[in-house]
Amino acid sequence: MTEEKKIQKIISPREKHWVGNGFHVSTIFSMHSEEVESISPFLMMDHAAPKYFPPTRKKLGVGEHPHRGFETVTFAIKGEVEHRDSGGGGGTITTGGVQWMTAGSGVVHDEFHSRNFSQKGGDFEMIQLWVNLPSKFKMTSPRYQSLEAADFPVLDGANQEITVKVIAGSFGTVKSPVKTFSPINMYELNGPANAKLEIPLAEGSNTLVFQLSGRSSIEEKLLNKGNLAILSRSGNSLNLELEEESKVMILNGEPLGEPVAAHGPFVMNTRQELMEAFRDFQEGKMGQLVS
Ligand code: MN
Repeated sequence: MTEEKKIQKIISPREKHWVGNGFHVSTIFSMHSEEVESISPFLMMDHAAPKYFPPTRKKLGVGEHPHRGFETVTFAIKGEVEHRDSGGGGGTITTGGVQWMTAGSGVVHDEFHSRNFSQKGGDFEMIQLWVNLPSKFKMTSPRYQSLEAADFPVLDGANQEITVKVIAGSFGTVKSPVKTFSPINMYELNGPANAKLEIPLAEGSNTLVFQLSGRSSIEEKLLNKGNLAILSRSGNSLNLELEEESKVMILNGEPLGEPVAAHGPFVMNTRQELMEAFRDFQEGKMGQLVS
């Protein structure tokens, strides 16, 4: 039987802040809030809304810093992002590409607009999402998955006009090539005004709907550009209707149900593990970037 997931809450974007000198972001949701249980296994999402950067020879972004205990997932919606980490991962993603970095036991990395993009200048838009790791995988070896737009399967269903890019998990029988450590589905939807889509989602899973552009509605409640809807765990489907031409991101996953101890660049289960993370970083155990 189909039962719709209900909107629990709609959040408006917070004031923008700069991350380094390259990413002018609003935090869309965060584990440092009362939503920590209803966003699990996701932790945090920053959105850099479209912004024009003039050509420059400067490196724009964030210099060397560590992470442990989770994954950083970067979506280049417009423009190019360059990354390198002490686990040996690195590369550039261009429009439509995704970098899925598992920090696991710890990496040091930096994140910049690509040199090519900086020199030409242009419109830049990106999302950075933090995905939690289940306790038993927090100290897994670092891993780096780099995907171009063409690596993701796209469903353009015969009887509906909304295309579904399957970034993680699966939609029906269509599977993403991305490897995850807990059950996660991530879809980017694009479609014209008045298009509708029913999305099957697991009973008991958490679901977040982010309106990247345009306007849509769920149960006749409006989602404007920049809004995030947090849906109920109960229910096994989502009915989305586009009020305008839209781009919508859907994040869905099985809640981890484990304590979250987060400080700065580390996300563990206990305070003691956080202190160990700071100590291990200071002792150089998360490696170094080769300059
Ligand atoms: Mn980082």
